[in-house]
Amino acid sequence: MASYPGALHVGGRSEDATLFLDGPGLRVVTDRGVTYRIAYKELSIDITTDHALYGRTTKGDLAFSTHATECLPELKRRGAHVEEQVHAQLDRRRHSHRSRRWLRLLLGGVAGFVLLLWLLPKVLLLFVDWAPKSIDRKLGDAVYAELELGPELDDPRILGPVQEILARLQPHAQADGYELRLHVYSHRMVNAFALPGGHMILTTGLLRCAESPEEVAAVVAHEVAHVTRRHSLRSFVRGSGAWALAKILATSDRPFVGTAAVGAAATMMLRHQRDQEADADRVALTTLAAAQLDGRALAVMLQRMESLAGGDDGAPEWAQTHPDTSNRVAEIEQEMTKLGVVINTPLPVRWSELQAALPAPREH
Ligand SMILES: [Zn+2]
Repeated sequence: MASYPGALHVGGRSEDATLFLDGPGLRVVTDRGVTYRIAYKELSIDITTDHALYGRTTKGDLAFSTHATECLPELKRRGAHVEEQVHAQLDRRRHSHRSRRWLRLLLGGVAGFVLLLWLLPKVLLLFVDWAPKSIDRKLGDAVYAELELGPELDDPRILGPVQEILARLQPHAQADGYELRLHVYSHRMVNAFALPGGHMILTTGLLRCAESPEEVAAVVAHEVAHVTRRHSLRSFVRGSGAWALAKILATSDRPFVGTAAVGAAATMMLRHQRDQEADADRVALTTLAAAQLDGRALAVMLQRMESLAGGDDGAPEWAQTHPDTSNRVAEIEQEMTKLGVVINTPLPVRWSELQAALPAPREH
């Protein structure tokens, strides 16, 4: 039997009551136990608010109200007179409730989506911290295999000192799990860059621009830091997403076939953010100090490259991809002050022999 809590209003007084929809009429039983019975056809429902409906007898001697607006259709079905406008009002309300619910769902969905978009890169970058280092190596190997840099130099007079520099840095670079490999290519452009996993490329232009092996060591230490801090992997994941990374790792040995694909991947990997450059500088200075090399050589190298930037004799690409020289030099000096006294043990390399062995500058 359907019953609804409500109230009875008689002669200006109200009391709590329960409405029963049964039998030949509406039964209203007050909390004091008095029962009123109103035939449905003598009932008129003519006011509703958001949460209540009001009815009365057609004679107007009794009125009742209830918050249970859901009893309205049943009252109507049993023959009570319901004002058309009450019906329309209820319909509108139901409809607006429904559309408000949809609006809420839609807004909730949009907010969730925006939150996801905002969180996703952070989650993905978190993933980089936990990803095995084999991912870096596979990605770096794949890009390196497709880069067309011309023939790699194998002159021991050049490679010997370069490997000597790397050997001095490596034990202090926290590079476990990476395979640090230096490659030298003949190009007049002053450039150095690192791929994820450990491939590092130096141009003969950079070796020619340096005035001491310590300056080359400073640049190499900076590139090693990009590898060990996984900057390139982060840049790649930020640029193309973990899905692209997963796809590349799942495909084949040569996921970057085609110059465009390699170019896009390499550009993404080499486009470091300002904070990554500062991070690489800081890490490089610590590595250099531990290897008994003076990190100020990094500042010297940066300044020299900046002064070359206007000239046409080997444009310093490294300075262009590593902008903000004056700030970086200031930060390097600050960091050196923090590090305190640095022992400088020169690198035992045949520098002039290396310089003499450098091939004539090539354009490409
Ligand atoms: Zn860098």
